Amino acid sequence: MKLAVYPGSFDPITRGHIDILEKTSKIFDKIIIAVVHNINKKALFTLEERVELIKESISHLDNVEVESFSGLLVDYIREKKACAIIRGLRTVSDFEYEATMAYMNKNLLPDVDTIFVMSRPEYIFISSSGVKEAAILGGDVSAMVPLPVEKKLKEKLKQ
Ligand code: ADP
Repeated sequence: MKLAVYPGSFDPITRGHIDILEKTSKIFDKIIIAVVHNINKKALFTLEERVELIKESISHLDNVEVESFSGLLVDYIREKKACAIIRGLRTVSDFEYEATMAYMNKNLLPDVDTIFVMSRPEYIFISSSGVKEAAILGGDVSAMVPLPVEKKLKEKLKQ
């Protein structure tokens, strides 16, 4: 079985992430979205909220699952016996960071490759941080995030 892992912060999941999943779920037998618990990155949503929002947003993709993890990505990949890491690419500025990460992971785990998937042109500008910033300032983010995220953002920002 061809299993791939799509790691990230997903704070929160956006339509850009879902586009990457819709494309790659046709290529791999199974995909695990691995929500990273990063103590150095201040998140708006808790790990549990991020996982829940992803579950609600990907119910149309039946070979995609979601889990959370902390620690070294390659250890997680090894444990899951995955054959690939999925990452999305928007602009050239993503490339430098992503290439460094991919080479690092390749060095640590030579059997596993990172597969990059280009964003749809209309989603290139979407990022989790941009969505949060716009929502905090009262902007309409409905075109950028799935409905469960839009609702949760409104709820969260009311508090
Ligand atoms: P991280 O903190 O690991 O960068 P993110 O949740 O921001 O986590 O992103 C996870 C992955 O999804 C990254 O590879 C990122 O480039 C990709 N991604 C984020 N937004 C988009 C988008 N709009 N289109 C395509 N890929 C995206």
